[in-house]
Amino acid sequence: MTLADRVRTAVAAVSDPELRRPIGDLDMVRDITVEGETARVGIVLTIVGCPAAARIERDVHDAAASVAGIAQVTVEVGVMTSDERRALTEKLREGRPARQMPFGPDSLTRVILVSSGKGGVGKSTLTANLAVSLARQGLRVGLVDADVHGFSIPGLLGIAPGTQPTRIDDLMLPPVAHDVKTVSIGMFLREGEGAVAWRGPMLHRTVQQFLTDVFFGDLDVLLIDMPPGTGDVAISIGQLLPHAEVLVVTTPQPAASDVAIRSGLVARQTGQRVIGVVENMSGFTLPDGTVLDLFGAGGGAQVAAALSADADAAEVPLLASIPLSPTLRHGGDVGVPVVLDQPDDVAAQAISALARDIARNGRGLAGRPLPLTLN
Ligand code: ADP
Repeated sequence: MTLADRVRTAVAAVSDPELRRPIGDLDMVRDITVEGETARVGIVLTIVGCPAAARIERDVHDAAASVAGIAQVTVEVGVMTSDERRALTEKLREGRPARQMPFGPDSLTRVILVSSGKGGVGKSTLTANLAVSLARQGLRVGLVDADVHGFSIPGLLGIAPGTQPTRIDDLMLPPVAHDVKTVSIGMFLREGEGAVAWRGPMLHRTVQQFLTDVFFGDLDVLLIDMPPGTGDVAISIGQLLPHAEVLVVTTPQPAASDVAIRSGLVARQTGQRVIGVVENMSGFTLPDGTVLDLFGAGGGAQVAAALSADADAAEVPLLASIPLSPTLRHGGDVGVPVVLDQPDDVAAQAISALARDIARNGRGLAGRPLPLTLN
């Protein structure tokens, strides 16, 4: 191997932070020459103003400089031609035609919808922390914020306001926060516009676009933060992802249970499977150890029991009770998920345990043909 070959190997292994693949595989490495101890490295970026440009350039520089015998490196950065970009997007789609959804029934990605009957029960806070917790456990995680009324996920994950997916032609690369690839309906709104006013067909198109045009790459889990209730988005997602799994979030308050039960039943009507109930805002422990049930008690168990009553469906367990926690709330307010920053917090521990449970149980076997081996 010549010195230039060794530099090429080192540079080709640099990872594109958005596409999460080595730039060699992405055909981004161009001419490499070595004169004496000086390497001149040419690379091309996907688009002008690529947000990851500075980082790629620095990583390429460092990779080349790490090769024994190289003392100086110049990196020359260019931009792909439209033909080169088309070839790249085709490669990324892996033969899948444009506008085809990669999360169909045959996909290896588990799709988990996080639903609730009403707003304010902590669904988005839970979803953001659950996503980060699953990613910390080594899973490849995507998160779609489809909550038209709230779209609070970017804030909860500390994604700067105004951040948008990077577009390579008609492919969109989701921003990555704490290892979670995230798209939010809020990233597609013009300033001052609210999605709440959107009509059903517009919402349907947007949700469809999230699932088809956003390049998530291979994922183990795709979480979807659903709007509360059983409106247009729930119906669209029911049509697009009839095989999805559903987590129903409720508070301990009996009054909140009825609407939560309804959201689970509607999801089931579209063929989706309710895998469990999460009770949030359960007892608050005072410094002297007394537990205050600020929002009552028993709502989670009640929802789980009601959803288990249908003889044709699998039993629905109460998977977790997340206590009230000012630390969890604060983490959401400042965009630093509590499971990362304060893992010992009671709510963080309950959410991490839930994530482990979900990761361990894998995709449910209910409704799937089991491979049988007969001797
Ligand atoms: P939803 O998505 O259901 O509308 P959010 O996730 O926006 O609800 O949560 C509503 C509010 O409740 C937020 O201010 C959040 O920080 C707070 N919150 C959620 N869960 C808890 C909890 N377990 N303890 C304390 N505050 C919580």
